[in-house]
Amino acid sequence: MSDAFTYGLHEIGRDIWAWLQPDGQWGYSNAGLITNGDHSLLVDTLYDLNLTTRMLTDMRDATPAARQIDMLVNSHADGDHTYGNQLVKGARIIASAATANEFFADRPERLREVLAKADMLGEGAQYIAAYMGGGRFDFDDVVTTPPTETYEREALLKVGDKDVRLYNVGPAHTAGDTLIHSVHDKVVYTGDILFNDGHPAIWAGSIDGWMAACDLILSLDVDIVVPGHGRLTDKNGVRTFKAYLEMLRREARLRFEAGMTVEEAAADIVFEPPFDSWILPERIVGSINFLYRQWGSPHAEPDFLKMFDMIARYANRRAECLSGRHSATCGHAH
Ligand SMILES: [Zn+2]
Repeated sequence: MSDAFTYGLHEIGRDIWAWLQPDGQWGYSNAGLITNGDHSLLVDTLYDLNLTTRMLTDMRDATPAARQIDMLVNSHADGDHTYGNQLVKGARIIASAATANEFFADRPERLREVLAKADMLGEGAQYIAAYMGGGRFDFDDVVTTPPTETYEREALLKVGDKDVRLYNVGPAHTAGDTLIHSVHDKVVYTGDILFNDGHPAIWAGSIDGWMAACDLILSLDVDIVVPGHGRLTDKNGVRTFKAYLEMLRREARLRFEAGMTVEEAAADIVFEPPFDSWILPERIVGSINFLYRQWGSPHAEPDFLKMFDMIARYANRRAECLSGRHSATCGHAH
């Protein structure tokens, strides 16, 4: 397996590919393609029509089987994995029933509004605009295109002679996350059950379910793990990520019991290697907020944009801290 974390299509076995988008930050998700003979299965689309068109074009250039995609499996409903669905014409679109129920919750119209009014909506909206705006993505012509078929807990799909098993491991990152296991290829696509080398966005689903999902991946006969964001990995990447979830739950709980607010808890946690080098550390604010909400804390913030205000404050403080301007007050070792 090539370790190169470069943009675009990576052949990871015989008639199987991963589409990677470094560095895997907000909106830059991975996808996949499994083929056999004339048959094809696409794992996820991308965050807008331009990105998805480029991916589908490169896949068609790589293999004739991708000229007509037979099946599209959406790992979950988040826009960075589904907003290109309308371009996969004529394909069966398959997802867990719980994912199908979430398809209209994350609408491009709302994101367009936040981006358009970011200056008025506050620092959280401005943070979102800094990552998702500026022409990086174009949400104008995205039409929410939901699954045409759903399954409950497990399903077996045939791509020519290849067996592809679907496991609904939700609630985990969302209500109904799907693992896509190409059995003979020994490859699993995890969707956002795995963020590799980056802090995860935990604000829905279940952290216990998420850890159980990691265990399920570890029980599969796989050599290559394609994360929802970040570079390709193997089971070691899954073990590391599960250790992160355990660390997060433990450290958040200690601070919850000590009566700290969400922002105090987030500022107080110092990341040990390898987590100290992961991108988007400010996501821990949203993750702690989610756990606090589940634990019934009065400090938890239910409003999505206000949660992003907290995320933005953490990111801004950390940027100041790293630039040396805040060394006396930010509490980090320098
Ligand atoms: Zn994602």
